[in-house]
Amino acid sequence: MKISEMNVLVTGASRGIGKRIAEAFALSGANVVLNASRESDYFSETMKEFEERGFSVMACACDVSDQEAVMNMQKDIKEKFGSIHVLVNNAGITRDMLLMRMSEEQWDSVIDINLKGAFNCTKAFIRPMMKQGFGRIINISSVVGLTGNPGQVNYAASKAGMIGMTKAVAKETGKKGVTCNAVAPGFIESDMTDVLPEEIKAEYLKNIAVGRFGIAEDVAHAVLFLADEKSSFITGQVITVDGGMVM
Ligand code: NAP
Repeated sequence: MKISEMNVLVTGASRGIGKRIAEAFALSGANVVLNASRESDYFSETMKEFEERGFSVMACACDVSDQEAVMNMQKDIKEKFGSIHVLVNNAGITRDMLLMRMSEEQWDSVIDINLKGAFNCTKAFIRPMMKQGFGRIINISSVVGLTGNPGQVNYAASKAGMIGMTKAVAKETGKKGVTCNAVAPGFIESDMTDVLPEEIKAEYLKNIAVGRFGIAEDVAHAVLFLADEKSSFITGQVITVDGGMVM
């Protein structure tokens, strides 16, 4: 199956990395469904931009941490768009705080959106993928899920959890033509990293072998590679996209 024939759902696609992943698929001729937690001006702007560029696109506002809402999103997409071939679990948040001061709400919200959100979406789309004998699930984890990071106990746990989930899903679905892989970005320029203080950014930069921060397109490129039909022998893997920050 060519990418131009695929229906692709990208969660958290109103902006940042998710938007660029959706754009990369659309530029390759795929039909894309953009998800975000809610209607917003920037989500409408993204949709308008995609429509004006002639992309085949549908919008679905739905909080991925809400299982019932995700099941309804799946039905809606099936009815209006057709079955999904590629699911990119990209929606994610940070609520950084040192463990000693981290509130239950900060822990729960990150686990609920980053990890349970990926579970909810995978659960909703896996059965039709297995039935159709083709599917690609690509989880956007993080190098922080591999290395840990102070102030990000919740985020690191969610992203490491996604890696474990990736491997288990790969084992459950491989014989049905469905692959499941994770992409672990390093430091990528986006709203999420814009808020970091300049001195912290400078520290990160010192450790990036290629000498620059990543851009969303770097991540999108790896996602498209994994979605390709020729990547059918790659499953349960984690591809780091970090300019050589973690080796
Ligand atoms: P971002 O700019 O903050 O965008 C996050 C996206 O997720 C937005 O589209 C947001 O949409 C959506 N979202 C948040 N909560 C959601 C929910 N409950 N349901 C559905 N969508 C939701 O972040 P980003 O930097 O592009 O990051 C994208 C992914 O890459 C995340 O999983 C992040 O952990 C991962 N990552 C990023 C970096 C980095 O350096 N930037 C590094 C490693 C991994 P609305 O706010 O409109 O709902």
